[in-house]
Amino acid sequence: MIMASKSESTHNESDDESTEPIEPESALETARRQLDHAASHLDIDPSIVERLRYPKKVHEVTVPIERDDGTVDVFTGYRAQHDSVRGPFKGGLRYHPEVSRDECVGLGMWMTWKCAVMDLPFGGAKGGVAVNPKELSSGEKERLTRRFAQEIRDVIGPNRDIPAPDMGTDPQTMAWLMDAYSMQEGETIPGVVTGKPPVIGGSEGREEAPGRSVAIITKQACEYYGSDLEGTTVAIQGYGSVGANAARLLDEWGAMVVAISDVNGAMYDPDGIETATVPSHDEEPEAVTKYADDVISNDELLTLDVDVLIPAALGNVITEANASAIAADLVVEGANGPTTSTASAILAEQAIPVIPDILANAGGVTVSYFEWLQDINRRSWSLERVNDELETEMQAAWQAVTDEYEHRDVTWRDAAYIVALSRIAESHEVRGLWP
Ligand code: GLU
Repeated sequence: MIMASKSESTHNESDDESTEPIEPESALETARRQLDHAASHLDIDPSIVERLRYPKKVHEVTVPIERDDGTVDVFTGYRAQHDSVRGPFKGGLRYHPEVSRDECVGLGMWMTWKCAVMDLPFGGAKGGVAVNPKELSSGEKERLTRRFAQEIRDVIGPNRDIPAPDMGTDPQTMAWLMDAYSMQEGETIPGVVTGKPPVIGGSEGREEAPGRSVAIITKQACEYYGSDLEGTTVAIQGYGSVGANAARLLDEWGAMVVAISDVNGAMYDPDGIETATVPSHDEEPEAVTKYADDVISNDELLTLDVDVLIPAALGNVITEANASAIAADLVVEGANGPTTSTASAILAEQAIPVIPDILANAGGVTVSYFEWLQDINRRSWSLERVNDELETEMQAAWQAVTDEYEHRDVTWRDAAYIVALSRIAESHEVRGLWP
């Protein structure tokens, strides 16, 4: 049980994140509002903040593929490279019908902050193809990936921009991408992507890493608010890589996971779900409700009266429309951008702490960094080493964010942004603007 009552919050959670709520809100709008809000707490050169409002470059490409029936379909792909002041661009590739230029830019900005809050030597990027991967056969997905790799080949590379899996893509997608890139370059270059299968230079523990970091940060946050995980009730939206891994670890560490969901709806059991017995999206896609006695909707899951709510599926699920109905004591963001800025302001007014995505799910990119190091050194690490080093990095980031949270009287999101933005601004400051 989370012990700190909402009225006990000494923090300025009601420090409104938005002036004029506008919904629906694109990832880019949310990202820019969050940037401006965090920057207002810092004494940094406004011209640096202005530069960070825009991506360095956005690449838009046409990706034609031959379908299994011999016809040709044409899709649009993007790679938005936001900022590289601290190192190569880094971020996922998404296959989803709603992928757009603005979404990639917004998500790329979040990657810049995410890498900086973790103190990784990377900048931020995001890309993808506007396609419904459920409507592609495996062969079509392979052809799409290889053609997309060819189209963005000049702008990626182990020292330039390093893609990774995201929504709708997986280790196999990364293997195709790495193969297409390597074949064209004439040599095997594992470090061009992360999240590959371990047999070709992927890291042990990479797939579980985002969920593992969500679990680690949930545990830290519960302890911060004076409770330990034992018996803490948790509802998790999404049972893919992030949701299922977080659910299983939290369950293993003593929390009581009472609700999990996929696109079809949610399984709810107030006595606790045995998470290991429910197949994750990777094990059996969209099967959660098949295993449920009690099915509730995804909307109902979000408003359950639980200790911890973990939105770990899509962006923009906690909005102006449902934020005041959130009954959890703590929200930990497993997905990227699940809370709109209007919703953040409403939750802040209700003194519900929200631990932001750029900290909570940063285990993915952190183990991507470990993978990149392993690729450069041609030497793999044991799973134990990966998990130990991930734990160390997550604790360090948690500590840095907690220090800002305590000293500045801001929300958790602002505290994380302040850590990230200070590092990025200082890097821009010392490197300067040239040419
Ligand atoms: N797509 C993941 C994220 O949003 C991982 C990115 C990466 O490993 O580069 O954090």
